[in-house]
Amino acid sequence: MQIAKKILLLGSGHANIQVLHQLALLDQSHIKVTLISDVTNSPYSGMIPSYMAGIYKAEQLHFDLLKICLQYKFNFIVQKVEKIEARENRVQLSDGSLIDYDICSINIGIEPRTIPNEPNGQTDIIYLKPISKLILKWDELIERSNKSNEKIDFTVIGGGAAAFEIAIACRRRFPDSKHKIRMITGDHQLLFSQNVSTRKLAYKNLKRLQIDLIENVRVIKINKDELELSDGQKIPRKVCLIGTSAQASPIFRLSHLPVNHDGFVRVDEHLRIEGFQNIFAAGDCCDFTARSLPKAGVFAVREGPILFSNIKALIDRSSFLIDYKPQKYFLTIMVSGHNRAIFSYRGFAFEGKLAWWIKNFIDLKFMKRFQ
Ligand SMILES: Cc1cc2nc3c(=O)[nH]c(=O)nc-3n(C[C@H](O)[C@H](O)[C@H](O)COP(=O)(O)OP(=O)(O)OC[C@H]3O[C@@H](n4cnc5c(N)ncnc54)[C@H](O)[C@@H]3O)c2cc1C
Repeated sequence: MQIAKKILLLGSGHANIQVLHQLALLDQSHIKVTLISDVTNSPYSGMIPSYMAGIYKAEQLHFDLLKICLQYKFNFIVQKVEKIEARENRVQLSDGSLIDYDICSINIGIEPRTIPNEPNGQTDIIYLKPISKLILKWDELIERSNKSNEKIDFTVIGGGAAAFEIAIACRRRFPDSKHKIRMITGDHQLLFSQNVSTRKLAYKNLKRLQIDLIENVRVIKINKDELELSDGQKIPRKVCLIGTSAQASPIFRLSHLPVNHDGFVRVDEHLRIEGFQNIFAAGDCCDFTARSLPKAGVFAVREGPILFSNIKALIDRSSFLIDYKPQKYFLTIMVSGHNRAIFSYRGFAFEGKLAWWIKNFIDLKFMKRFQ
């Protein structure tokens, strides 16, 4: 009789969520699946800005992990993974317990890079990462504002696509211009990695929606009521939404796994952690050594099927693992207003309702497949 292989999925990111569903289609007498996640509901990042704008309901963009695991009769442990003891084939959880595995797949995303703040200056600081916590904090803020009807000023710190969409979402949720919204983009200009046409459209929309923009300046400290900027300015602040570049989970260094200079775990072309036969990693948490990849959900989504196929190969004791070949260019669609978005691919961009329609279609289709 074949002994069931213990498959451990760490983190419920965009790749592992697909693996979970695919594993359910296999002969269950050969596998014993366990999901470990620090949250019970995992959000799909592409829909977060529109959730914050009040367009989607929470259940539309969340994977209910408990429901999925109950349905497939998989084990589900709600805890933070603290350490991976790869030589012993086990992981350590936050309560100290140890869980064994035969095959492990890690998809735990990234952590925020915090900006120094005064000891009494933590109020109303919301980091965009991890995305599960962002939603909880935003919901608290909305509840408070519904009760008090107070004027809220928002500062979105960061100049990338997520920060841009969040600034737009704030305006859609708080359309009255009595609520001031500003973006501070850090050392670069707004959307510096995007093409010129996209950036022009982004500037135009920020202006249209009365969102102020401060570029090429960093926030170096967050005080209780003001922000200290790298050019010496001090400006008043209320709610800060922080979308500056995030950092690797400390777990990998702590676990003595191979990491790049930024602490992201190194994976080979099969998404296997270098030097290990039975541990995979995918999404933002890893460094794909063959080519540096942007930290974007689209890569985690595309890695899901490769990850599953290679896990299945190990279950079947096959040595045929497939290579992950990331796409060179990827489509970005950023929400830019009420039912509007900017569509950007290579050097091309357009803005309007059609782009929003495409984005909404892609996102809802993804959710329908895996919810
Ligand atoms: C507002 C916003 C909008 C975005 N929009 C887009 C977009 O439209 N398109 C796009 O391509 N990208 C987008 N991104 C980027 C995208 O969020 C990330 O690239 C994507 O989430 C990475 O997916 P992942 O699967 O690697 O990890 P994640 O989606 O971050 O999932 C990791 C999971 O692991 C869990 N976890 C973490 N640590 C542990 C631990 N120690 N133990 C147990 N569980 C743990 C977390 O709770 C989380 O559920 C957006 C980001 C933000 C902030």
